[in-house]
Amino acid sequence: MSRILYTKPSITALEIEFVTDAITHGWGDDCYGYIQRFEKEFAQYVGTSKAIATASCTGALHLGLAALGIGPGDEVILADTNWVASLAPILYLGATPIFVDVLPDTWCLDPAQVEQAITAKTKAIIAVHLYGNLCDMDRLLALSQSTGIPLIEDAAEAVGSVWHGHHAGSMGRFGVFSFHGTKTLSTGEGGIFVTHDDALYDRVLTLSNHGRAANQPKQFWPDLLGYKYKMSNLQAALGCAQLQRVDELVARKREILHYYRQAFAHIPAISMNPEPVGTQNGAWMPTLVVSQEAGITTDQMRAAFQAQAVDARVFFHPLSTLPFIQQTPQPTSLSLAERGLNLPSYHDMTTADLNKIVQIVYGLFS
Ligand SMILES: *Cc1c(COP(=O)(O)O)cnc(C)c1O
Repeated sequence: MSRILYTKPSITALEIEFVTDAITHGWGDDCYGYIQRFEKEFAQYVGTSKAIATASCTGALHLGLAALGIGPGDEVILADTNWVASLAPILYLGATPIFVDVLPDTWCLDPAQVEQAITAKTKAIIAVHLYGNLCDMDRLLALSQSTGIPLIEDAAEAVGSVWHGHHAGSMGRFGVFSFHGTKTLSTGEGGIFVTHDDALYDRVLTLSNHGRAANQPKQFWPDLLGYKYKMSNLQAALGCAQLQRVDELVARKREILHYYRQAFAHIPAISMNPEPVGTQNGAWMPTLVVSQEAGITTDQMRAAFQAQAVDARVFFHPLSTLPFIQQTPQPTSLSLAERGLNLPSYHDMTTADLNKIVQIVYGLFS
């Protein structure tokens, strides 16, 4: 019985051709060629004026927050339901995370709670588009505008998610994406910072290259203490190939979510990733949440999947419960973690794979 993985990248002859070219020719004068191309093409894809490719999404977020001058004494608001990568850069900079609850249907941060959590110390709001689901950008952007507090989009899980004509990641002060091997578009490891703000772009570019300003004529001269978070040319070559296929990659993700949604339409206790009118869900991670009344837990579901050699991932734990935070969890975040499960989704999965997963879920509800 071969194992069904929860996700893996789709690698074709195109990706191999691009990486082969980069490793053969991408040195010396050409050592940044694919990086520059990837940055330009990714910015075009999401609709921002600028992009900086990084070693990871965590690094991109760290750079962006640092460039905004966030540090000790500052507060940054984010949802309690999140992967630790959205939290860690706040802590690296010595700032204070303020956790708010998520909405029960989108699993993304609740704008009303964000508004209540704002204080004189609030320096940023991080909106994470969870599992491809979009945050309520109209309300969050309006809040950002009326308060002057920058809205940051962590769109690591939202390649292909579109809010009323605007790509996730392109609407806030800046956006970040991940190209980790589990994400919709992959460079193995990698990330990117995108923005419309030229001054912020310049600061992040300097910070991303050990504090060396692009216009500094003096060699080996860091103007300030920065970081080393650059993407390699080899990874960028892989990214360029994947970007040529991005519509195909997103379409397949959406097709898989749709397949599950249709199959579970007959089980009222199950809800899945929403797609409100006027939006497109990039469907990174098809996720099912079981109603409280049904009484089936994440642990029970995972055990049923494990028994059939199918990987399924638990819903994110509330960040407030992590050992280095230890705060009272937000109620909806805690409840979702007990009832939610990510289902396998990758480009090359077969209909037989999908049907096997559907059968396991039906077995739980029979
Ligand atoms: C994957 C992920 C990240 C981290 O990406 P890395 O490239 O692994 O640093 C950050 N935020 C979210 C929401 C993610 O899903």
